[in-house]
Amino acid sequence: MPAMGECDHPEIREAVRRLCERFPGAYWRALDRERAYPTEFVRALTEAGWLAALIPETYGGAGLGLSAACAILEEIHAAGCNAAACHAQMYTMGTLLRYGSAEQKRRWLPEIAAGRIRLQAFGVTEPTSGSDTTALRTTARREGDRWIVSGQKIWTSRAEHSDLMLLLARTTPKEQVQRRTEGLSVFLVDLREAEGRGLEIRPIRTMMNHATTEIFIDGLELPLEALVGEEGRGFRYILSGMNAERILIAAECIGDARWFVDKAVAYAKERVVFGRPIGQNQGIQFPIARAYAQTRAAALMVREAARLYEGGADPGAEANTAKLLAADAAWAAAEACLQTHGGFGFAEEYDVERKFRESRLYQVAPISTNLILSYLGEHVLGMPRSY
Ligand SMILES: Cc1cc2nc3c(=O)[nH]c(=O)nc-3n(C[C@H](O)[C@H](O)[C@H](O)COP(=O)(O)OP(=O)(O)OC[C@H]3O[C@@H](n4cnc5c(N)ncnc54)[C@H](O)[C@@H]3O)c2cc1C
Repeated sequence: MPAMGECDHPEIREAVRRLCERFPGAYWRALDRERAYPTEFVRALTEAGWLAALIPETYGGAGLGLSAACAILEEIHAAGCNAAACHAQMYTMGTLLRYGSAEQKRRWLPEIAAGRIRLQAFGVTEPTSGSDTTALRTTARREGDRWIVSGQKIWTSRAEHSDLMLLLARTTPKEQVQRRTEGLSVFLVDLREAEGRGLEIRPIRTMMNHATTEIFIDGLELPLEALVGEEGRGFRYILSGMNAERILIAAECIGDARWFVDKAVAYAKERVVFGRPIGQNQGIQFPIARAYAQTRAAALMVREAARLYEGGADPGAEANTAKLLAADAAWAAAEACLQTHGGFGFAEEYDVERKFRESRLYQVAPISTNLILSYLGEHVLGMPRSY
């Protein structure tokens, strides 16, 4: 199936495809069994400069726009690889870039661009607050020349493979702010110094290979300069990065959908049962064709969201719609692909079951489908808030 963007960023797509050829299904299957980190793959992407795509050239990055980053991630997934191990290295730095001090940017961005420092952990979700982010309970209070942080995070992905983590914590109690979105602040935590000194990382084994963790924080001391931007405005900072994240994840879903459709079509043409290729049966053909159509439509939405973002807008409606449609297209394609493969869909060596598990995540994270629908219902369509 051709790249959804077809003419958009063809050289980038071609180069990423070539890199991915070095990491075939067998590579991912071996890691999947052990739940191991794709170190060689992440190194190859880093060395090729792809993870620094969005960092401005002044800081040593490629200075590309969001649509180029979308092309990179889409191709990785269309090739059967998985960017979840490192995609956040591309965009987590956006909060630092937009709201960090000149000193923070000068110190960290060139290191991140060079791949010497990884900033790919993002501690927002907590076990008790879940989707209700502003109910988070991790606190940071100022004591002299330090911040003292205590609390717990969950699903902080890649923390074991990251030098730095962006952390959202409450700096003013909920009762003392007018709106719950106020009083939250963002901190840049140096995990190399923090681990074992008030911060503990524990891996969570999940149904796919995702390097996710929970983080326990008890009396962690941070220097004053760990604060990013102004105290109390962290929720706004995090939100502005979320639209970029949703568009990029949507591009990954388009890549997954392309992989599933290609795989399903190839198998449907080749597998002969009752003396005819199974793809000759409309019961097999139509779900694949429908998933293809859904993927094409979702890809247009991803492109539109990326275009608006690159033009300087913060396109909440489009970013959320793109994420919703792309995740649904990927899931429809996953379902059609697995069904087309019959029993072989469950066999490891076909990679279908692995990709099936991997693509299911995007109905839940980084934002669940219901919460996107609530956003569209309330903020775009003006209906009453449902919760
Ligand atoms: C593998 C993985 C990696 C992740 N990585 C990160 C990370 O790096 N950093 C980070 O901060 N977080 C991360 N997350 C967390 C992710 O963002 C959350 O899991 C997600 O936002 C949903 O929150 P929750 O799991 O607490 O579900 P809950 O908020 O408990 O929701 C459970 C279900 O109820 C539904 N629901 C809740 N409220 C409503 C409502 N009002 N109306 C309708 N339905 C509702 C939800 O849609 C969902 O289906 C990750 C999660 C996973 C599984």
